[in-house]
Amino acid sequence: MTQRVPCIDVIGLARCTGCFGCQSACHVDAIKLLLDADGFYKPLVDRNKCNECGLCQLSCPVILAQIGKLDADRFREPKAFAAWSKDEKVRLSSSSGGVFSELARQTLSAGGVVVGCVWGNGWTPEHILARTWSDVERMRGSKYVPSKVGDVYRQVKDFLAMNDNPVLFSGTPCQVAALEALLRPEQRERVLLVEFICHGVPSLRVFHLYMHELFGGESVVSYTFRDKTLGVPTVLATAAFRAQHLIPMSSDSFFQGFVCHHLYVMEVCSTCPFACMPRRGDITLGDFWGCPEQWQDKRGVSVVFASTEKGMEALQLTSKLGHVELRITEVAVATLRNSRAVRSRGYSIPRARRAFLDGMIKGASFKRLRGKYFPRRLHLFWYSFLSSQSKWRFIVSFIVRRIRRIQKMKE
Ligand SMILES: Cc1cc2nc3c(=O)[nH]c(=O)nc-3n(C[C@H](O)[C@H](O)[C@H](O)COP(=O)(O)OP(=O)(O)OC[C@H]3O[C@@H](n4cnc5c(N)ncnc54)[C@H](O)[C@@H]3O)c2cc1C
Ligand code: SF4
Ligand code: SF4
Ligand code: SF4
Repeated sequence: MTQRVPCIDVIGLARCTGCFGCQSACHVDAIKLLLDADGFYKPLVDRNKCNECGLCQLSCPVILAQIGKLDADRFREPKAFAAWSKDEKVRLSSSSGGVFSELARQTLSAGGVVVGCVWGNGWTPEHILARTWSDVERMRGSKYVPSKVGDVYRQVKDFLAMNDNPVLFSGTPCQVAALEALLRPEQRERVLLVEFICHGVPSLRVFHLYMHELFGGESVVSYTFRDKTLGVPTVLATAAFRAQHLIPMSSDSFFQGFVCHHLYVMEVCSTCPFACMPRRGDITLGDFWGCPEQWQDKRGVSVVFASTEKGMEALQLTSKLGHVELRITEVAVATLRNSRAVRSRGYSIPRARRAFLDGMIKGASFKRLRGKYFPRRLHLFWYSFLSSQSKWRFIVSFIVRRIRRIQKMKE
């Protein structure tokens, strides 16, 4: 610790992941994470309360990653699996193979608690501590927007102080790293850290704007980012008057703006310090893109990494109890189409991002912003061509054909 100042003064807002670690670390409650104008959680320090002890720096995962102080107790190379729940209902209602729910089932049956993300009021995700299966069911499914972690890390610590039972914590890699930094070694022993491969989080305010316009201002009563009834990941929203928005994820405009154009993704996610090996979770879950043919299944297949003995034991137990189908695979196969699992160098942030968010702040509609800032079709073609792996093959073969044609003409 070079300076005794709050961690946000060291890293700056642009590198902050909104993990809520510092809020829980501060003993005088000088930090509160609030949703900023762009739609991301950022710390606000009460300078009257802060006594400049600098202790929150020890729990800031961005600082710990920067100085190489993240817990190093991981396998050099994780064990990789294809996996899915054997419970058809669980598998179909989960984002990929439903492995999270099966790990949660195991923790609850051992008398423990499960911490994860549910939809809160006004379609705002939040982390809760669950003791029942029905709360785990609320956690099921990815909510592709930032979660309000609140004081849940403190609740985990309180639970560990008063019980001998286990805890499963699930969240983004930055949240998992934040909790790990807050735990004492004897507390860490009872916590199973489950992270997922994370592309990033888009702005919560943009999501609310998009939702508001889905049914012309009519309120939305149910929303699933990844419904499976069409056989491809599909966004399914239902309005109060029963109208439905059912559209493949790849064609949904909120998703396109987030995943393809990165117009409202959180800035730090593009160079996420946690999107790499060694992974931060005991267990890492993701979608098995590029799944070998023998396991492909439209009901969903998860890619799973175990990076510690603890993670390995938990996976083996779910498999032994007959809850999860677990097939060993190679890390290279598991990451071939999911490079986000292994490297931080992710994507670049377009210049139009700032203009898009400023437009939202000034009150423009999502439809208008989409029309103005989403790239045109021709741009998209060139963008996907230039970022495709086959571009060099295409360019080289084009040049070779040209040269041959010129040579023939000369003959
Ligand atoms: C923002 C985000 C980005 C992702 N990016 C990728 C990616 O690039 N590549 C990839 O392979 N997989 C990605 N995933 C993970 C993937 O969508 C599945 O969540 C994962 O495969 C686990 O699926 P499952 O079927 O086991 O469990 P599910 O039941 O589908 O998973 C739900 C779990 O995710 C947690 N969760 C849901 N939303 C949030 C949230 N907003 N913040 C914190 N925790 C949350 C819940 O607590 C629960 O533990 C992402 C998930 C999220 C939320
Ligand atoms: S009092 Fe200490 S822990 Fe709290 S915000 Fe200030 S520097 Fe951080
Ligand atoms: S602990 Fe988390 S929320 Fe606080 S400054 Fe660091 S990254 Fe941001
Ligand atoms: S991409 Fe990285 S910084 Fe962004 S939410 Fe995911 S883990 Fe956190």
